[in-house]
Order: sequence, then structure tokens, then C-alpha cells
Amino acid sequence: MDKRKWFRRIPKVDVLLETAEIQGMIRHYSRDTVVCAIQKKLDEIREFIKTCEEESQAERKLDRLPAEIEREVAKVHQPNLKPVINGTGTILHTNLGRAPISDRHMERLSAIATGYSNLEYNLEEGKRGERYSHFEKLLCKITGAESAMAVNNNAAAVMLILSSMAKGGEVVVSRGELVEIGGKFRIPDVMEQSGARLVEVGTTNKTHYQDYADAVTEETKAFLKVHTSNYRIVGFTETVEVGELTRLAKEYQLPVIEDLGSGVLIDLSKYGLEYEPTVQDSVRQGADVVCFSGDKLLGGAQAGIIVGKKAYIDQMKKNPLTRALRIDKFTAATLELVLQEYLSEEKAVQRIPVLRMMTARKEEIEKEAKALRRMLRAKKLPAEIFLVDCESQIGGGSLPLERIPSVAVAVRPEKITVAQLEARMRHLPIPVIPRIANNLLLLDVRTIERKWFAEIADQLAQLKVLEEEPEIELGEER
Ligand SMILES: *Cc1c(COP(=O)(O)O)cnc(C)c1O
Repeated sequence: MDKRKWFRRIPKVDVLLETAEIQGMIRHYSRDTVVCAIQKKLDEIREFIKTCEEESQAERKLDRLPAEIEREVAKVHQPNLKPVINGTGTILHTNLGRAPISDRHMERLSAIATGYSNLEYNLEEGKRGERYSHFEKLLCKITGAESAMAVNNNAAAVMLILSSMAKGGEVVVSRGELVEIGGKFRIPDVMEQSGARLVEVGTTNKTHYQDYADAVTEETKAFLKVHTSNYRIVGFTETVEVGELTRLAKEYQLPVIEDLGSGVLIDLSKYGLEYEPTVQDSVRQGADVVCFSGDKLLGGAQAGIIVGKKAYIDQMKKNPLTRALRIDKFTAATLELVLQEYLSEEKAVQRIPVLRMMTARKEEIEKEAKALRRMLRAKKLPAEIFLVDCESQIGGGSLPLERIPSVAVAVRPEKITVAQLEARMRHLPIPVIPRIANNLLLLDVRTIERKWFAEIADQLAQLKVLEEEPEIELGEER
């Protein structure tokens, strides 16, 4: 193939800019993005022709140039952060954004976010108010604590608590509770940032009451309990419960802090799940300060919620760190809405998506799975589509041992491999993230809301995802 001839056929930027198609794009987007896209696509064609040996392929590439440019420009204007459909069955998937907010709460949130609000304005008195005021009373009512506030996430909550209560002093914590939260963030590192010194007691599997007592010095400022929410130590073990620890703490007039991690507000064992210590338990047993995540089992926005004795919470509200860690109006509004649901446990379980998914019975999931299977089969896709039993997980470092019986729609493609299908599904306009097991692509219906069923079926059919030559651009697939 005569490469020079083909290089000559690549249009010049100026010429392209004068064509009606490109002019249209410039009007619709901006000249700058269009010029950048043209340059990028022309570079790609040059590279392509260097290695190309087939005239027909070069021809096709040139023919598709305007469409490719348009696609490139559109990509720049399309948000990269987008909704995905979670078919993994992991309910609190940290990589997929943890707890979803319900549509009904979102409507209300949208009204707050698109305008002004009384975030820090006291409407009764016509003067400055407090952003925690919208949910503080609710938190106190639900948990039985005296006072409450919230910061950006639970890691920040731990840091703020220790900085306010133990800076320059020592905090006693069991070796069995030195948790790594994930993404390499470890409780000891967070503690160090707060300016408190960590004093480790006990061993990995056993920490006794006396270990805590022996560790107390003049420098001791607090005892810290960390709920090992993302792992379990089983077998020959011993831990000192919060209730016991508060007894010791009283003797020395020291506070007990508990980092619960997940922060569940209802007794999950009623729903056939493993018992997870509730915030209420911790407060009742005498913990002075308790912190937990807003977007784990609570099912709300990303936040670190702190409840406890008023004197300590007041100290934290005054800490300059609080200003750096403060929550925004979205979070404040979401926390209020989600916490309000907890005023009735029945409502909470129905209306908070995470709780609904966690407590849905297998028979309900099966019914949904049948509906999805029916919709997929109706598209006559080149694939075998059937139901299989599977197990969902909680995720997000919560209830690590829990496996909830569930039902998945399995897809066995006829023309492509399961790995190819998985990659293609990730590249759909609304990506679908499945789970792969036993060379089957599984969509665990526990984490897929019904509103997405038609979307999944339409995307698989319209974009010919299951065909040898799909109609979607395949970024990572080779
Ligand atoms: C998850 C977790 C955290 C961190 O919470 P984020 O809200 O993710 O910052 C801290 N401590 C424990 C015990 C946890 O499980």
C-alpha cells in the first residue's frame, strides 16, 4: 500500500474546520474542544496508516473521521462520573459509592441544593444558626445520647475526637482492634495525625480488663474501643466490652470513646442477619463518645457522625479542625431526611435503600429476578438466560461474615466469552457491573432496583453487546 498517497489524503485542520459538519459541532459545543478533537483524531489516523497494510481499512478509517471527531467532542462534554448498575450483590460497595440515596429523598435534596436554605440560619430568631441543628435532636432521640454532630467521614470523626480529647496525651487501645479501614488507612495512623499517642495493650486475640488498667499513667487521656467491623477474630479470644471498660474508666475519671465503624441503629438480628452492636447499645453501656459512618449501615450520606456527652461534643464543635472537616449542605440535608426515617423502624427498613436491600427476603428477590429474566429473554439475545441461587454480601467493611441467600440472573453468551461480555457491560452508556462465578456472568438482583431492568435489557439488545461485532466502543477489550 502506497503510504504517501494515504498520508496526503488525510484532511488538513483548516479544511475540516470549514466543512458543514464541523461547523455544526462548533456551534453546538465550542471551537476549542472541536479543534482539540480534530488534532487528536488526525494524530490517531497518522499512527494508524503507519502500520496499516490494507487500503480498505485506511479508507474506512478516513470515512469515519467526522463521526469519530463528533464522538470525541461529545465525550469531553459528557460527565465521567455516572450512574452504574450494581449487579455484584455487594450492598455497600465502596468503589461504587456505598449507600444509595432514595429517589424520594433526592427530590427534597434537590430543592435544598438548587437554591438557598437555612443551613446556618435560625429562622425563629432571625440570626446565625448551627448546621448540626437540623439533625442533632434526631440523633439524640434515636441513640439516647446528650449531644451530636457530624464531620466529613468517620475517619475524620476519629481524628477530631482524639484531637479534642487526647491531644498530647495517651490513648489506650487493644492490639486486637488496630483496624485497617481500607485503602491503606489504618486507625493507628489516623490517631497519630490527631496528636494523641497510641498505647497498645493485650495481644491480637486476647485483651483483658487488667491490661487496660495496667496501661493507665498520668498521661492517659482516654480509652478507645474500635469495633472490628471489617474482620472477626474467632476462637481463643477475649475482649473487654464497652460496659466493662466504662467501669474502669470511672475509677480513673477517664472517658471511653468507641469507634463503631458501621453505626447501625436497628437490631439487624431481627431480620435474620448477624447481630451488629448498635449505637444505642454503646451509649447505653456508658461510652462517653461514639462515632460511626453515615454511609455504611446507616444508609445515608458520606459522613462521620459523633454522639455523646455534651461537654465533649461542645469541645469538638469549638476545635478549629471542625472547620476543616465540616459537612456541606447536601450531607446535612441527607442526614436529617435519613434519620427521620428511623423514627419508625418499619419505615426505615422500607425507605432506606441499604436497609431494604439487606432485609429483602430471598422469595422477593426471586420474584424480581424472574421479571428481569423475562425482560432479557424477550429481547431474543444470543445467550442462555436463567436464574441461579447466589449469596449477597454487605460490603463496605460491615458484617464481613454475613452471606445473604439471593438470586441472580445468569447470562451465558453464545458468541463471545464471559470475560468479553463483562468488559463490554462496563462500557455501556449506563455501565452494568456484574459478578463472575463458574464461568457465568451473574446479575445479583438484590442490588438492582427494578427501575433499571428495562435499561439493562435495552442496552444489551440495542447495542448488540452479545454479538461478535458490538456497536459500542470497547475501550479496554482486546
Ligand atoms: C469504615 C470505618 C471507618 C472509616 O469510616 P469512613 O466513613 O469510611 O471514613 C473507621 N473506623 C471503622 C471501625 C470503620 O469500620
